Amino acid sequence: MTEALLQIKDLRVYYHVDAGAVRAVDGVSFNLEAGIKLGLVGESGSGKSTMALALMRMIKAPGKIESGQMILDGVDLLQLSEEKMRQTKLMKLSMIPQGAMNSLNPVMRIDKQMMDGLEDHNSLLSKEELTARIQELLTAVDLDPKVAKMYPHELSGGMKQRVCVAMAISMEPDLIIADEPTSALDVVIQRQVMAMINRLQEKLGLALILIGHDMGLMAQSVDRLAVMYAGRMMEIADTKVIFGNPLHPYTQLLISSLPVLENKGVFSGIPGVTPSLLTPPPGCVFHTRCPKARDVCRERIPVFTEVETGRWVACHLITA
Ligand code: ATP
Ligand code: SF4
Repeated sequence: MTEALLQIKDLRVYYHVDAGAVRAVDGVSFNLEAGIKLGLVGESGSGKSTMALALMRMIKAPGKIESGQMILDGVDLLQLSEEKMRQTKLMKLSMIPQGAMNSLNPVMRIDKQMMDGLEDHNSLLSKEELTARIQELLTAVDLDPKVAKMYPHELSGGMKQRVCVAMAISMEPDLIIADEPTSALDVVIQRQVMAMINRLQEKLGLALILIGHDMGLMAQSVDRLAVMYAGRMMEIADTKVIFGNPLHPYTQLLISSLPVLENKGVFSGIPGVTPSLLTPPPGCVFHTRCPKARDVCRERIPVFTEVETGRWVACHLITA
């Protein structure tokens, strides 16, 4: 059996604040196969962005990757030197960060910004070849190549986001992490940008980790769905399987709390509050809100277990 493109093993990322360690990612493990789109969902503060930043090795103090492995294409990213990691970024994995469009430099033309990344990794390409590549990339994200000579303030939000996507795919990486890539855009533009990302993902055969809250968008966009809660992974399975028959009580609540019309929309309204990640509850971290909790749930952490091929769940009710 071939190895998965990405293997995350028992990853822990904590933020060390005055009050103690915030366990933002606390023993997360999962695999992602090449060319597959994985949606990462969970309420605000469940650790999704921390997970993405860890993968890019962009966790800054007071955050720290405590332990674990992040193996991409056979190489543990945590063992790479700074220089090797810099090369790996863009060449093998890249990210469209949250609020990416605001990360464009306002006083630099688009082509200059795109050129910087390309030059870094294509020292053999001539200026003309780089210019041609930029035009090709802008066309790939449905932008007029004239955009190359414009400044960010001359572009709409959707156009800026397309530029960020062009930058992320510029080296045709194996994996792109997109952290809420459309959340700042209006709904119509969101759908257009998402359709464009899907098209490119298929064309280039990329694996994609799509982070978001919108389960409706996820249902339409991703092959597999990963559900996080309070820094831990609760359930992973094919999207259709999860929507058809969610096993984990938290996933069940997420899906049943959606507006009924085709289960589309942003989830809200699960009773109770998420626990403090400074002092997470013992046992199953969801037991304080779980309608099915029993004694064992307060005492033992459920092991994230493959209950059917490709279907992983952390719940005593399912894995006992
Ligand atoms: P959202 O959906 O709102 O973006 P998220 O699921 O991406 O949330 P994270 O942003 O990864 O969650 O946050 C996980 C936890 O880590 C939260 O409890 C958050 O308060 C904490 N956290 C994140 N960044 C820091 C930081 N720089 N310092 C201290 N705590 C942090
Ligand atoms: Fe609920 Fe227990 Fe399952 Fe946790 S382990 S989700 S508390 S039933």
